[in-house]
Amino acid sequence: MKVPSRFAQKFTGESAITALMKDLGEAITSQDPDICMLGGGNPAVIPEAAETFYAEAQALLQDESFTQSVGYYSSPQGNKRFIAVLADFFKTHYGWDIGPENIALTNGSQNSFFYLFNVLAGEMADGSHKKILFPLSPEYVGYMDLGLSADMFTSHKPSIEYLDGQQFKYRLNVDELSIDDDIAAICVSRPTNPTGNVITDEELELLDQLAQQHNIPLIIDNAYGFPFPGAIYIDAKLTWHNNIILGMSLSKLGLPGLRTGIVIANEDIINAVSRLNGITCLSPNNIGAGLLTKLIDDKRILSLRDDHIRPFYQQKMANALALAQQTFSGLPVHIHKPEGAFFLWLWFETLPINSKELYQRLKDKKVYIIPGEDFFVGMDVQWQHQYQCIRVSYALSDEQLERGLAIIAAELRSLIAVKSKP
Ligand code: PLP
Repeated sequence: MKVPSRFAQKFTGESAITALMKDLGEAITSQDPDICMLGGGNPAVIPEAAETFYAEAQALLQDESFTQSVGYYSSPQGNKRFIAVLADFFKTHYGWDIGPENIALTNGSQNSFFYLFNVLAGEMADGSHKKILFPLSPEYVGYMDLGLSADMFTSHKPSIEYLDGQQFKYRLNVDELSIDDDIAAICVSRPTNPTGNVITDEELELLDQLAQQHNIPLIIDNAYGFPFPGAIYIDAKLTWHNNIILGMSLSKLGLPGLRTGIVIANEDIINAVSRLNGITCLSPNNIGAGLLTKLIDDKRILSLRDDHIRPFYQQKMANALALAQQTFSGLPVHIHKPEGAFFLWLWFETLPINSKELYQRLKDKKVYIIPGEDFFVGMDVQWQHQYQCIRVSYALSDEQLERGLAIIAAELRSLIAVKSKP
């Protein structure tokens, strides 16, 4: 390309996260038995869930709904039958005032957020510029490159609550939570990727009220939450009304290859999402919808969640936390209280290098983690904390987690020893 378009510059150039994903992809396919893969956001393959999806896929193949799923484009809003079943499920299960007009499907929730952020913020028709606010940084790194305009995201520093057992929890910094005129929407992932935080019902209620007062939507990214996959290990209420945009996904149930996202919102937003689907991909993927319709309609999805998926991740979380507490005992390491999703967020308070350098050092020892600094968008560069954290996934092999944490602890000890040499 002689002169790249601005779009090409933005979306086809190097970005920190695509470089990282490339590294992780190469490590996963290398088959090297010494590798500890603690990076990436892949869900686990849970045998009972995989068997259920396999059986549903076989049933789908026997049935005329197979042709419905693969032989036709769905409407740009998504598979009508699946949308009707979802609306009915949310109405009966949660008592929400919701109908099919409040739901649209996309090709994964990453795709949903690309639409939503650019519909709500960026260069506005009146010439103004608006931003999406992440009120509790760090936030999901996958959001950060989604803006078609420059400078579309801003975030607030959290306050830190110290807890027992080397743990801490990020809390909404209520005193500093200003919503200026250039904020177009508030967005939180709940549970949060990367921290495993579940912002409290009270914090969510406050954000909900602030959004309503300022007449802007509150976007809740529920990719790991209830009703599925239900990777939340504390009590937390799921709320939706016309001013909330709820993002959901089939990925973390164990179906990331199906690329199915679900947007629940008021009719204006759903119309916008449907039209964007129409223009950018004609219609969203139909197979995820075909596979899950019966499971949701007859509520088997709930027993699959309660008997298998949620207990599986809860057990993994408890093991990972105990292991981290044991491995980092006596070291200046804090562990974010793992309340949801499947990540440990580790804070190395006196780290003498930044987390990207730590990433490289660990990669040289075949341990793959995600360095934390890209998760803090627009943060004051003076705040050292943002360079001192890493994300570790506990969804995959327990053996690799144990080996990987031990190598991280050894690296930390040697870094601290070098620093303290006279
Ligand atoms: N939101 C969060 C918080 C995530 O962690 C992810 C994936 O890791 C996504 C959204 C996107 O997921 P998908 O596009 O597979 O639905």
